[in-house]
Amino acid sequence: MALIMETPVDALIKDEHETPKWKKSTVVFVLGGPGSGKGTQCANLVKHFSYTHFSAGDLLRAEIKSGSQFGAMIQSMIVDGRIVPSEITVKLLCKAMEESGDDKFLIDGFPRNEENRIVFENVAKIEPAFVLFFDCPEDELERRIMSRNQGREDDNIETIKKRFKVFVESTLPIISYYESKGKLRKINAAKPSEEVFEAVKVLFAS
Ligand code: UDP
Ligand code: MG
Repeated sequence: MALIMETPVDALIKDEHETPKWKKSTVVFVLGGPGSGKGTQCANLVKHFSYTHFSAGDLLRAEIKSGSQFGAMIQSMIVDGRIVPSEITVKLLCKAMEESGDDKFLIDGFPRNEENRIVFENVAKIEPAFVLFFDCPEDELERRIMSRNQGREDDNIETIKKRFKVFVESTLPIISYYESKGKLRKINAAKPSEEVFEAVKVLFAS
């Protein structure tokens, strides 16, 4: 059941008289290389704070499973470690936020490049409150991905190398952009998960 073309998001955006709840929401972007612990730490955060977590990668994988007309294209891009066209990812994110009925979101694994960032800003008209960055060296990330087994088609050494390259070339500039705006909160993610969470918690408690 692929709803991407029937999403009510477009209609909502055009409505100038009523602002839906999610359009006034607090958004925190969660970035970091593949295997840096974004999903793990977001799962920890929602247990302690009233945020709703959406992983852009998980939404894309769900879209493939739903039998979407874009499924084959999304799948081939993920297997190749490439970034899916922003229009698709942004629609999925806006639809998920709208349907949740909530107004505080952790968005993990997005924006991955400048196009992602600009399309989200233009469509959702939301600027992140801040951006969490899980900083971790590449050899540690590679070790973690190769030792986890989530049955993901992109967790093989060939795709991992491509994902690292895309991260350095496309996502690091976004991280620098938010740093220049004073919005970056950098966390040392090369430590045990519990220790990383202690550092993360502090940012949300204030
Ligand atoms: N992806 C994408 N746009 C996004 C998020 C994910 O195109 O906004 C694709 C991309 O191909 C990426 C893959 O989905 O390599 C897996 O992303 P995810 O965040 O799940 O994995 P991570 O790289 O954090 O391990
Ligand atoms: Mg993830």
